[in-house]
Amino acid sequence: MSSPSSCASCGLGIPALIEIAHIPDRRTAPNRTLPLCSLCHRAYDLGLTSQAEIEAVEAIWKVQGAPPHTLGELLIRWGERSPDWKLLHKGAQKKAGLKIRRRNAAKRAVATRRANASREA
Ligand SMILES: [Zn+2]
Repeated sequence: MSSPSSCASCGLGIPALIEIAHIPDRRTAPNRTLPLCSLCHRAYDLGLTSQAEIEAVEAIWKVQGAPPHTLGELLIRWGERSPDWKLLHKGAQKKAGLKIRRRNAAKRAVATRRANASREA
C-alpha cells in the first residue's frame, strides 16, 4: 500500500486535502477505508463515483499503489453525471426527523403542564 498522503483515485498529493473515506461494505468489512482527496471523497459521497468504481479504484491502488485516473478524467466524468443528494443527507434527514419529533413532544408537555396548572389554580 502506498502512503496515504495522496489520493487513491486521482493521485492528488496535497496531504492537507487527503481524507480517509469510508467505503462501506457492512457485511464483509465495516471499517474499510481509502485515502481520497476532498473532491474524490465528495464525489463518492454524492454518488458521482459509484460503489463499483470506488472498489475498482481500491483494487488498483492496493496492487499498483498508483491511482487509476487523473483528476481531469474524473472532472469530465462527474460533470456528465447527476449527484444523488439523498446519499449525502441520509443521516441528516434521520436526525432532523428526530429533532422535530422531540420538539413536538416538548411542546405537548408544556401545554399539558399549563393545562394542569390552570386546573389547579
Ligand atoms: Zn482525488
